[in-house]
Amino acid sequence: MKNLLIIGSGAAGLTAAVYASRANLAPLLIAGKLPGGLLTQTSDVENYPGFPEAINGFELMMRFQQQAQRFGTEILNESVASVNFTNKGPHEITLGSGEKFEAKALIIATGASPRWLGLESEKRLMTKGVSACATCDGAFYRNMPVVVIGGGDTAMEEALFLTRFASEVTLIHRRDQFRASKIMSERVMKNPKVKVILNSAVDEILGENEVEGVSVKNLVNGEKSELKCKGYFAALGHSPNTEIFKGSVDMNENGYIVLKGNSSYTSVEGVFAAGDCADHVYRQAVTAAGMGCKAAIDAERWLEANS
Ligand code: NDP
Repeated sequence: MKNLLIIGSGAAGLTAAVYASRANLAPLLIAGKLPGGLLTQTSDVENYPGFPEAINGFELMMRFQQQAQRFGTEILNESVASVNFTNKGPHEITLGSGEKFEAKALIIATGASPRWLGLESEKRLMTKGVSACATCDGAFYRNMPVVVIGGGDTAMEEALFLTRFASEVTLIHRRDQFRASKIMSERVMKNPKVKVILNSAVDEILGENEVEGVSVKNLVNGEKSELKCKGYFAALGHSPNTEIFKGSVDMNENGYIVLKGNSSYTSVEGVFAAGDCADHVYRQAVTAAGMGCKAAIDAERWLEANS
């Protein structure tokens, strides 16, 4: 039986692995479908402390991984298919391959996935003007026009944030009303740099090798138009990657894992959680890494008290 299993290889999982392996827990980390996590899909990361000249997202995560392996973390490039938790453990996981592992403690760090419209052009132009994170990528669009898609609080927040850099922000929403809070919607409506297009959907992103514009369809009269832009920000919300834990650990109504107080403790003894799977508010590499550190320290102390 392992001391500690870590599920997920983004900033939270790998930071937990660095701390746990330095504490001699010899953790086994299951990397999941996207080794290195969401950051591997961004281009330059300019807001991770310690890299004043920015660092490529993929390279940053490879460094996290090397640091975890240096202290003895074992990493499996597999996905977890199901889990079987028991209060105080042991906790069992089954991989997609059918292989099973048991551990005394376990950290869930499976992250969240941004929602996309599902257009082929979103995939093709990913990191070439297509983004789901204004905080990460907004500064690359200084004095350039950008579009934001969505009508929730994230869309309002992203649109307002982007006004600091972009020459113009066009917010495109499929209905005639925002889902966002009144205060956020009002801030957007009052901002002279934001243009709002309602009752409309983007049906294609234009450009071969980089974003050059969007094709917009008016959902009321069916009319199509084209809009020039350099950046396309999907702000359609995020979905936590917690499907396999449903029924095993307490979650809120949106599927985010509920933590106890200011800790990384979940509703199951010996199961901890960190990063975007348990945080819909901050969603930053540095906050996820901080949560991973907390989870490893909580797990280490819990193991010491319960072994
Ligand atoms: P939401 O689910 O609230 O909003 C998603 C938006 O995307 C909706 O306007 C929705 O349209 C639109 N959308 C979804 N799918 C599609 C699609 N296929 N095509 C077109 N449009 C689509 O997600 P958020 O991330 O905005 O917010 C999640 C939670 O986090 C909320 O509770 C929010 O209040 C909270 N939050 C709070 C913040 C704050 O307080 N500062 C900041 C950010 C989030 P439609 O409205 O038509 O369904």
